[in-house]
Amino acid sequence: MKIPLFSSKSPSTEIDQVCGMKVSVNNPPGGSWTYNDKMYYFCGPGCNRAFQKEPEPYLSGEKQIEM
Ligand SMILES: [Zn+2]
Repeated sequence: MKIPLFSSKSPSTEIDQVCGMKVSVNNPPGGSWTYNDKMYYFCGPGCNRAFQKEPEPYLSGEKQIEM
């Protein structure tokens, strides 16, 4: 599955690194979290928690959960 990691064309949405969903940066349902000086947004609290627990496997694409 192809996922654009960094899309500069959509300033109002970001990809949830955990599940691959598009999340509004203005009102992320799962909140946001800063890691390595970058802000990440989540579709739900579960994704936020999973990412905070171990961000690296999600960033590298090694790990992803299905919603
Ligand atoms: Zn998610």
